Amino acid sequence: PVIINMKSLSKFYQMGEQTVKALDSIDLQFKRNDYTAIMGPSGSGKSTMMNIIGCLDIPTSGIYELNGQNVAEMDDNELARIRNREIGFVFQTFNLLPRLNCLRNVELPLIYAGITPEEREQRATEALHRVGLGNRITHKPSELSGGQIQRVAIARALINNPSIILADEPTGNLDTATSMEIMEIFGNLSDAGNTIILITHEEDIARYTHRVIRLRDGKIESDIPQ
Ligand code: ADP
Ligand code: ADP
Repeated sequence: PVIINMKSLSKFYQMGEQTVKALDSIDLQFKRNDYTAIMGPSGSGKSTMMNIIGCLDIPTSGIYELNGQNVAEMDDNELARIRNREIGFVFQTFNLLPRLNCLRNVELPLIYAGITPEEREQRATEALHRVGLGNRITHKPSELSGGQIQRVAIARALINNPSIILADEPTGNLDTATSMEIMEIFGNLSDAGNTIILITHEEDIARYTHRVIRLRDGKIESDIPQ
């Protein structure tokens, strides 16, 4: 089934006299299980596309549907719910709180959701196990390697069982071996039914995915399964 559907989707920025076409009439679909790398030169529209997919930004024109629902027709509550429940974000810089241990970092999104402490702990522990960090639950970020820190960030993104995981340069700060580990975790999540979309500049990273979309000047230059 199609989970993400963009139809003639454009995002323009007006810069004085000039119109910047960050995304220009994009037609694009993602299915459940898709494991996709978005590539393209700086300024080609990658971040803009991720922001729209993640409901952090809205298109200037065209249609964006998530699970068959037109995002433009959702109210703020519904949008907030989708951002918190359907979408998990992973960033290049890990955004963990340094004074909190792994468990506390991972359960943060649940605190805002009003989940009881017992359930929070149980779900955070489970998420840490899923990324292979069951033995680092009480460690603080400063006591972990870069790859382990990124895995904590992935566990936090998984905590609400989102169907879609969006990652912006998730291996940008990691060495090659560690990057491969992270890509394998994403691969496993995709096998388990998640839709994974990540931005990367590195061909070696993109190789791990099942689909590579290249953007250029706000348009799709190529879209190739692999
Ligand atoms: P990346 O390719 O990793 O997305 P870029 O080099 O394109 O990064 O951009 C660096 C930063 O500058 C990003 O945070 C991007 O959002 C921001 N940026 C790029 N172009 C503009 C612009 N015209 N106005 C404001 N911010 C911009
Ligand atoms: P990428 O992530 O591929 O580097 P972006 O999506 O950040 O590309 O940017 C696409 C285009 O939109 C670029 O030309 C950039 O300068 C422009 N852009 C991005 N954000 C803004 C903004 N907030 N205001 C004006 N122009 C922007």
